[in-house]
Amino acid sequence: MTATRVPGVPAIEDGVLISTNPATGEEAGRVPVASAEATVAAVRKAREAGAWWQALGYDGRKDRMLRWRSLLVQRIDELAQLTSLETGKPNADAIMEIVAAVEHLDWAPRHAKKVLGPRRTRTRVLLAEHTGHLEYQPYGVVGVIGPWNYPIVTPIGPISGALAAGNAVVFKPSEYTPIVGQWLVDTFAEVVPEQPVLQAVHGLGDVGAALCRSGVGKVAFTGSTATGKKVMAACAKNLVPVVIEAGGKDALIVDADADIPAAADAAVWGGMTNAGQTCIGIERVYAVAPVYDSLVKEIVARAGKLRTGEEIGPITMPKQIDIIREHIDDALAKGGTAVLGGAGAVQPPFVAPTVLVDVPADSSEIRDETFGPTLTITKVADADEAIRLANDTAYGLGGAVFGKRNAIRIARRLRSGMVSVNSTLTFVGMGNLPFGGVGDSGFGRIHGEDGLREFARPKSITVRRAKSLLPSTTFDRTPGQIRQIVKAVKLLYGRRS
Ligand code: NDP
Repeated sequence: MTATRVPGVPAIEDGVLISTNPATGEEAGRVPVASAEATVAAVRKAREAGAWWQALGYDGRKDRMLRWRSLLVQRIDELAQLTSLETGKPNADAIMEIVAAVEHLDWAPRHAKKVLGPRRTRTRVLLAEHTGHLEYQPYGVVGVIGPWNYPIVTPIGPISGALAAGNAVVFKPSEYTPIVGQWLVDTFAEVVPEQPVLQAVHGLGDVGAALCRSGVGKVAFTGSTATGKKVMAACAKNLVPVVIEAGGKDALIVDADADIPAAADAAVWGGMTNAGQTCIGIERVYAVAPVYDSLVKEIVARAGKLRTGEEIGPITMPKQIDIIREHIDDALAKGGTAVLGGAGAVQPPFVAPTVLVDVPADSSEIRDETFGPTLTITKVADADEAIRLANDTAYGLGGAVFGKRNAIRIARRLRSGMVSVNSTLTFVGMGNLPFGGVGDSGFGRIHGEDGLREFARPKSITVRRAKSLLPSTTFDRTPGQIRQIVKAVKLLYGRRS
């Protein structure tokens, strides 16, 4: 039976998931849907594969992962085309996403040994006859659940950390982007053909939920806050730890000494790249009064040049268009003004660039994640007010500051996991910087040293090297030895500093 297909809406026919382009309806590909039993079986196979992968050691894994990285680079045009076909995003957006993914695939395996490998810790005086040893051991199998907006770089973040740490991965791509997800798994199998170290399970949310309950050691979830809570609940049953990378409502603050054309350029790109479907996309701009008028003018001029179907691709998930429309309508109904775009900007599957001013703080366009090519610009008296308003949200993912003298001080005070000064979104492209949010944006980190440690458990080992002079861990200790221990503790730790 073939139901009528809606462009961009995944269809399931006879146990097969069919993925289509949101603008043209062209088929991107089809993959089998995984049953709950198949998901459990995938995790079971992954457990064996993970043991084999771990035994390759850091250098063996690095070698394989860097070969996969190179394969992605060699086939960058093929992957970009497939991503554009499946999500509708322009080629340039797809290329930029792959470039960021490659950075993480390069950084994680190169640094895993140093960050996670065995090391001796410094001796402690009271236990000087023992040496301390620390290493980080993999969970075995990590489940990665990914979203549709960046189907390459968002899963590659946790996948690269989990693989470099020695885990096998079972990956559940979004139902909107299963074909790109499967492409990643297939190319990994080209460089690691021996064992299913990276597998995909496909389907709707129930497959993601099944993955949480299938015996994985940890789950790395990227997606909406609402689904993140469901994932946590599913994982709670077996006390499976989770990393939650959820949504955002990122702000860009423009201080009085900012370079205004540069700030406008960054606001427009940071807000409208990938048609605004970016978790760390700029959604709100706060500008101090002296620069407000020139900034608005410059943003409108730049955003007004962007064309739908060219720089601005379609909205990948058709349902999101209703949310974007509601946010714009709510902003206008509550007294906001569209200085570009507005209600008429929503022309499914596209949304034209929209810039709104005088939007009240209680409107959804200010409070909730819009995930479209819209920006609000709000005039503030000074940086303190900008920070207060920027932080007045349940989310706390990224952010940006434009300015000179106080920019870093402002960046520190933003309640978020990452901030770019005098640029936007830059932190996601640096393999050595941890990535993640606070509040409703989630917890835990991918990327960087913290992102490696996220996928391994610390294992502490002590080794006795000599007989104890001051034995404490035995019933054979004498009252005299206890007095000596007290004396030593007073000497070592009894003083004020
Ligand atoms: P969703 O939360 O709808 O889905 C994310 C993934 O979870 C999908 O694979 C989805 O499967 C799966 N899922 C759905 N229900 C369940 C369930 N009950 N148990 C387990 N898994 C489930 O997010 P979107 O795909 O809409 O992605 C957009 C969101 O992701 C935005 O909020 C965005 O800000 C956020 N995001 C965050 C990033 C970050 O690093 N912080 C980066 C990129 C995006 P299915 O698709 O089949 O429903």
